[in-house]
Order: sequence, then C-alpha cells, then structure tokens
Amino acid sequence: METKQFKAESKRLLDLMINSIYTNKEIFLRELISNASDAMDKLYYNSLTDKNININKDNLTIKINADKQKRTLTIEDKGIGMNAEELENNLGTIAQSGSFAFKNENEKKDDVNIIGQFGVGFYSAFMVSKEVEVISKPYGAEKAYIWKSKGAEGYTIEETTKEDFGTTIILHIKEDSEEEKYSEFLDEYRIKGIVKRYSDYIRYPIKMDVTKKELKQGSKDEYEEKTITETLNSMIPIWKKKKSEVTDEEFNSFYTSKFGEFETPIKVIRSTVEGTLNYDLLLYIPSNVPYNYYTKEFEKGLQLYSNGVLIMEKCKDLLPDYFSFVKGLVDSPDLSLNISREILQQDRQLKTIAKNIEKKIKSELEDMLNKNREEYEKFFKTFGIQLKFGVYNNFGIDKDKLKDLLMFYSSTEKKLVTLKEYVTRMKEGQDKIYYACGETVNKIDMLPQVEGVKDKEYEILYLTDEIDEFVLQVLINYEEKEFANVSANNLNLDSKEDKEKLEKLNEECKDMLSLMQETIPEVAKVCFTNRLKEHPVCLTTEGAISVEMQKVINALPNNKTIQAKTLLEINENHAIANKLKSLYESDKEELKKYTKILYAQAKLIEGLNIDNPTEISNLICEMISK
Ligand code: ADP
Repeated sequence: METKQFKAESKRLLDLMINSIYTNKEIFLRELISNASDAMDKLYYNSLTDKNININKDNLTIKINADKQKRTLTIEDKGIGMNAEELENNLGTIAQSGSFAFKNENEKKDDVNIIGQFGVGFYSAFMVSKEVEVISKPYGAEKAYIWKSKGAEGYTIEETTKEDFGTTIILHIKEDSEEEKYSEFLDEYRIKGIVKRYSDYIRYPIKMDVTKKELKQGSKDEYEEKTITETLNSMIPIWKKKKSEVTDEEFNSFYTSKFGEFETPIKVIRSTVEGTLNYDLLLYIPSNVPYNYYTKEFEKGLQLYSNGVLIMEKCKDLLPDYFSFVKGLVDSPDLSLNISREILQQDRQLKTIAKNIEKKIKSELEDMLNKNREEYEKFFKTFGIQLKFGVYNNFGIDKDKLKDLLMFYSSTEKKLVTLKEYVTRMKEGQDKIYYACGETVNKIDMLPQVEGVKDKEYEILYLTDEIDEFVLQVLINYEEKEFANVSANNLNLDSKEDKEKLEKLNEECKDMLSLMQETIPEVAKVCFTNRLKEHPVCLTTEGAISVEMQKVINALPNNKTIQAKTLLEINENHAIANKLKSLYESDKEELKKYTKILYAQAKLIEGLNIDNPTEISNLICEMISK
C-alpha cells in the first residue's frame, strides 16, 4: 500500500505535535470533540433541506471509549463523514496552513505558544498518540475508508468496512515516559474532567461507558462491576449561560477552539436580549489583527444559530465593515431553520439584530474607552484604522456613529487623544482644531509649520495614517470646530498688526517674489511668512488638497495624478530674507539659484521628491565652493 506524504506545512505542524513539550496536551480531546460536533451540525443542517437524509436528531451523539488494555481512546460521531478524497484533503493538509506559516515566521512565537494559542485541530491528536486511525463513511455512501498515520512518515488510506455513517477516530495512546504519563488519557475520571472543562457546551450528548462498582443485589458487602453509559456534558451552549456562570478561561477556550484564534481576546461581549426579538449574543474583540485580515480570503461575519443549531458559518450581514474584526455568534429562536441565504438577507428580524449588534459593539467600545483607557488604546492601535475607514467610506454616512471612537496623537499630551478631549482643552478664543500630517510623530514634530503653532501654545493632532486627513475632511468639523492643517496658508493665527506688517512686506517685495515664483513655476506663489520661528522656509498649501493628500492620491494605482496648490513661504525674520532682498538688487541670476535651492529644501522637509536632484546638488556645490 502506498504511503503518502503530508504537505510541507502539515508536516511541520505534525512534527511539532509529535515532539511537543507542551504541557496542556489535554486540549486534543476538545479539538476532536469540536470536529465531531461540527460534522454533526453539517449533517443535520443538510437534512433540513435534503429529503434523502433521514436522521433522528436524538441519535446524533459523540461516543468516547477508553480501553486501557489496548491503550486506545476512541471518539465516534454520527456526523457527515468523509470519503477517501476528503480524508486525503482534510487530514493530509492542515486547513489553515497559511496562518501557521505566518505565525511562525513573522511573530517568531515559540512552538509551545503555537500549540497553546492557535486552534490546532485534528493534528493535536499526535501530542498523545503514537498512531491515529480515522475510519469514516459519509451519510448514504456505500464504502468506508480508513486513514492511518504514525506521524511524520506519512499516512495511508484504504477501503474498510463500517456499519454506520459518521467518523470514528482511534488514538493509540503513547507509552508513558519519565516526564509524561500518557495513561491518564485512558482514565475515565480524567476524561470526564477534560470534557467538562472544555466541551460542556457541545449541544450533542458526549457519552462514555463507565464502569461502576455497585453492591450486589441482596448483598451487604459484595460488589459487582456494572457498565453504564453516562452523558458527560450539560449541553448548555456557553452563550446561553449567564455571564457570571462562565469563567474567563471558558470563554477564552471556546474562542480559541471555535474561531481558530490563538491569542485571548481583548474583550468578550455576552448578552441576552428578550422581547419582540429574542437572541443570545457572544462576541469577541480580538487582541490582534486576524492573520488573513488584509487578504481576499478574509470574510467578516458572525456564526448564526437558530435555537442552538448552526445555520450559517459566516453571516456577513450581521456586522458592518468597520466592525469586521469582531468574531462571535448569534443564536435566535426567532429565525427559521430552513431559511435560505438569499431570504435571510432580506429578513427584517436579522436586520434588527444586526442594528442592535452594531450598537452593542459601539457602546462596549465606548465603555472601554471611558473605563479602561490602556486597553482601548491597544484596541485602537490594532483596529483604529477600520474605524477611520468607517468614517470615510460611503461619503461619511456613518461618521457620527464613529467619530467619538477616533483617536489621534496629541502634541501636548504626547499620547492618543479623542476629538472630544481636544475640544474640551481648547484655548480661549481658539476656534479650530489644528492638525499636521506626516509619516511619523517625530517627523511631524520637526516640521517648520508645526513649530510656529506650537510656539503659540496650541495643541496639534499629529496624523500619521494616510487616511487621517481624508477622515477629517469627511468629518468637516467636530462640535462645530473646524479642522485646520497647520500647513494651510490661511491659518490666520496672527494678530492684526502682524498681519498688516506682513502684507506690507510682501507688497514691497512683490517684484522680487514674482521673479522667484517664475523660477519655480510649479509653485503658485512665493511669499514671506511670520509663521516660522527658526526655520528658513516651508511649503504650505491653498485649497482642499494638502501635500499629504497629494502623496496618498498619487500613490494609488490607476489614478490620475493631482497637484496640491503649493506656496513657498520664507521666514521674514531669518537672515535669508535679507540675503534674498540684496541679491535681487545685485544679482538676479544668483537669486534664481537661491530660489531653486530653497524650494528643494522645502520639498525635502515635506518628504516630497525633488525632480532635479543633480541640478540642485550642483547648485549647492557651486555656492559652498565660493
Ligand atoms: P478545522 O476543524 O479547524 O477545520 P482540523 O484539522 O481539526 O481543522 O480538521 C480538518 C478538517 O477535517 C475539518 O475541517 C473537517 O472538514 C474534517 N474533519 C475533521 N474531523 C472530522 C469529523 N469527525 N467528521 C468529519 N469531518 C472531519
């Protein structure tokens, strides 16, 4: 018989499992039970629409059997089963191999963490088994197949016989060693404990034959051993239990096994809604970006249950895009089991639930912001960008819902702040919310334009995400305070006298300034400014498009390029001002060269490319060689 090799990724995970030093090996049972339960969900769900499937719901059970003599632990389900091809595909390749590869390389997590925190599924059986056999027969199929593997060498698949449909997994438990007592996984008491701990909520009975010593009838001291079948789980879904009855560990363990997550969530949201519409809600806000979040494969959505029966794995209509990172489930007895996806989308009740879920997530986030700032900041650093897109998308239709959840870095507080906080701190007479854009907080902090505004003791929001300025444009204002880019040329921070003085100066030097402008025609205007303290020059913009926006838009593929209307401003109090004036009198050609250099400087400060680096370099050399 041919021994087949595991796919590379699977082999790596398998090696990890086999040689695992991970202490929490017991989770293998949780994973296998969870698979069994999923398989029965699938079969039951199909039976609702396929009249060829006749099953008695009460027969859908999971059976565990431990045989100490043979050292086998068997888990048997009446689920959908797998044919030869499915055995090959599902067990020869780990389902989420992508995530595994990603975690290992990018996060450099140690092996123990991978096993502990990432839903590892079927392969976890190899932590406790020297050999695993999977015998499976799909419902209605003629043939059954057996998949066998001792781990790293590969696996075999051959035909076999199996009376009933479903899947039986036989684990040949490893021998005990000095460090590990694998025999514990054959112990009834221990197995009961593991099931209770991780799989209590499974909605199918998990049954096990247990031996009990009982007094012989009519005897006072003679015992006999009896085998009775016990149901080990309460079958109450975790999401139907009161929050107070469930420990954090249980919520988290459910999350890792159910949603293939590897790190505990930042927040668990659990609520029961009763009234015209009834439903239970269990939501998780992940603490990290899901590994495939920014790929095409990522699908948002919540699991949808009708009275404990899974009717949809990912119901996307239940989550708005800006909360797409939320994982979890909704269970409502008011939704029909047989509802098709198409009808579901139109379903009024579903829409109401979706609206409520959105409100609930929002209020939980607000709560976190108010009560646990540190946690919220962590959340915002991870998912804030989604909220920003939420504000920006669809022409800002959702902006009012989200604006109070936004945060930006503050020049005075040196941390993330909300718009509300900014506004409550505004100086007397301040009527604008000032912001500056750039790649990093440090770079923004060094912008000449920022210096002047900081000098006047205004708080400035530092925008470092590309989308930030677009977000503010969509918001237009916050509590009627408009947003003002410190690089806008109409910032208007000056006193009346200063303004007049500056206007006078610009008027006097009109001819010189227009000669300079002609030298650099890209620029709409060259003028003196009093907004700068130490710096000689800066670029400002006029109109709706700022330099940062120009950069972002021009970086987009298939987009026409745009040009911000820029102005070159020269510090009226800097020595360079007088130098320029005197050059205008003595050497106009030299003035043109100075202009080009100053403009190149201003562009570099803004992080823009200069079109003529060689020319500028030569000019600078010419100057310093004098
Ligand atoms: P996951 O459950 O996260 O998809 P697993 O490695 O645990 O990953 O299982 C891989 C696949 O094998 C499952 O998605 C499922 O299709 C199939 N499978 C596993 N166990 C069973 C079972 N008991 N019955 C039917 N199919 C199963």
